[in-house]
Amino acid sequence: MTDVQLRKDHIKLLNNELTLHTPDEACGVLIGRKEQSSIIVKIVLPIKNSRPSDRSFELDSKEHYEAWNRADEEGMEIVGVYHTHPRSKASPSAWDRESMENYQILWVIVGVDGINGFEWDSCVKSVEVIEVD
Ligand SMILES: [Zn+2]
Repeated sequence: MTDVQLRKDHIKLLNNELTLHTPDEACGVLIGRKEQSSIIVKIVLPIKNSRPSDRSFELDSKEHYEAWNRADEEGMEIVGVYHTHPRSKASPSAWDRESMENYQILWVIVGVDGINGFEWDSCVKSVEVIEVD
């Protein structure tokens, strides 16, 4: 994929997530659909961080499962996962890189310097974040 489309209200929600859970990381999933090389996000769904820390996160398994059902009900899919970096930049940490290799999906990171997208494709690659209305 080359880009991910997030609406203005999604971006606002993601930035709120960052501040709300500081100093811990916040996390959640992105629900939407894939279209050629783009990912169109329709729902940003916060999920409880079951292992709160300022260095890593763990999606609560029950809420993660419910998110899969919700996506399915809406005729969409989970197209990505997001988490916040309350004290660092929006680039993958060593822990993130390892996790990305194990969970190969779009990764959106909300950091102090903005929001960036990444995917694992034999190494970490950037996915452009496009803000849409
Ligand atoms: Zn991270």
